[in-house]
Amino acid sequence: MTLASGLLPVVLGVVILYMQAERALKHSAEHTAEEAIQQFELMLDNTAQSARELLPLAGQRCLDVNFALREQVTRRPFVRSTNLVWDDTIYCSSLFGDVNEKTSSGNYDGGRLLLMKGNPVTPDTAFLVYRLGEGKRGAMSTLDGYHLSNVLRMIGSHTLLVLQVGPNWLSADNQFHEGALPDFPVAQTQLDSSRYAFGVKAGFPEGETWRYMSSEYPALFSLLIFFGAVSALIGHLLQMRSTSPTHEMKRAMEAMEFVPYFQAVVHGDTKKVSGTEVLMRWNHPKEGLVRPDLFIPFAEHSGLIVPMTRSLMQQTAVLLGPLSASFREPFHIGINITASHCQDLELISDCREFLAQFAPGSIHLVLELTERELIEPTPLTHQLFEQLRELGVKIAIDDFGTGHSSLGYLRQFNVDYLKIDQSFVAMIGVDALSGHILDTVIELALKLDLAMVAEGVETQEQSDYLTAHNVNFLQGYLYGRPMPGAEFISALSVD
Ligand code: C2E
Ligand code: CA
Ligand code: CA
Repeated sequence: MTLASGLLPVVLGVVILYMQAERALKHSAEHTAEEAIQQFELMLDNTAQSARELLPLAGQRCLDVNFALREQVTRRPFVRSTNLVWDDTIYCSSLFGDVNEKTSSGNYDGGRLLLMKGNPVTPDTAFLVYRLGEGKRGAMSTLDGYHLSNVLRMIGSHTLLVLQVGPNWLSADNQFHEGALPDFPVAQTQLDSSRYAFGVKAGFPEGETWRYMSSEYPALFSLLIFFGAVSALIGHLLQMRSTSPTHEMKRAMEAMEFVPYFQAVVHGDTKKVSGTEVLMRWNHPKEGLVRPDLFIPFAEHSGLIVPMTRSLMQQTAVLLGPLSASFREPFHIGINITASHCQDLELISDCREFLAQFAPGSIHLVLELTERELIEPTPLTHQLFEQLRELGVKIAIDDFGTGHSSLGYLRQFNVDYLKIDQSFVAMIGVDALSGHILDTVIELALKLDLAMVAEGVETQEQSDYLTAHNVNFLQGYLYGRPMPGAEFISALSVD
């Protein structure tokens, strides 16, 4: 949660910055390409101009026009050499004078460009030829690759930039290449001149977006990290708040705020105390005494119920253990257990330790399992209940009648008592139908041959009814409310 809330703004921010950087680089590549095109067009304007001026001279004797050829080379910036063509043959060159070199035929109307690797004079220096033709006449001006690659290098100092002419291209290191243009991984842009037959391709190397971001947005990055940290902190605090019940209960357990309350259980006939049910209370420093139904679900959810119950049993043993020698008949001590408690064998050692603190045979430890959440019969639970039985521990089905335990189920777990839920007891004297339901529950218990405890007995009428129907034990406000240990002990001694 903390990590996610911290990372989310950072990741989002980085994504936005990345897109922004990509846009900026695309823009920069386009700008560079436009500038290069302009620069090349300017250079070609000079080259084209010289070819145009020389074209009318084509056909004249080389001796007569040689000076004019050289003059163009000297006067025009960027022009490296000039040549005249007659009938597809170069016959006059500014450098060599008379020559005889076949050239490819073609109509150079409006001029045509050719990028070449080199010539016999400078085989390793690329150059660009501008050709102009009209009938048998032709004029050629060449532009040194050195100037071209200079432009590529200087305009695109941070950009990868190449010049493309037909099937050939020139890179910034003044190398001539044939074939496909290179691929630029970032912000690739291709632009053609509208005036001459060439184009440029611009772009950036791999990873340029990140480099750009780190050099251009350092302040934004720091801000993002700051937002991430703030957001992580908020996430952390929110999470702390959402886990705080568990937190709070752990603290309470260490502070021994969970204490046992004791409610008497009496014999149905004599109404003498036969035992007690141990009910947990949270002695909260601010909230006061908290009812178990408000915190037991949290304790189950967080897995704290096991150590909490263990602590409750220990406190009970400390309080009642010393009295056990004076018990005339086995005193019943009921402890409420949840299904999650029966998932390992730890419960056995807890019970053994509990029993060890009482005079031998002075008590019956009764584990109350609510019928609402039945324990699944597995090899482990069978082993557990087998060993509990060997220890002499009794099992009671709590809230009997509200769940749906079957006869088979009750046999499997060797149940000793059924605790008739207080909702059935409350039906006594209400109407005929309600009374009938209670009778059915009692009948069922009798058929199963199990001892019965009626819960929530509040009135004399209820007490009389239950006694008349052979309910073995009674529990309720009529005989005593749940009370703290000291109070319960003094009530016992009065008895
Ligand atoms: P429960 O096991 O059915 O316990 C009986 C509940 O009925 C107790 O409520 C008790 O105070 C209440 N009661 C007793 N006599 C009367 C009466 O005459 N009239 C009425 N209206 N109520 C009566 P309590 O103590 O609030 O406990 C509620 C539930 O919380 C318990 O129901 C039990 O399921 C659970 N619980 C209590 N302590 C523990 C514990 O240590 N561990 C576990 N897992 N659950 C516990
Ligand atoms: Ca109970
Ligand atoms: Ca109950």
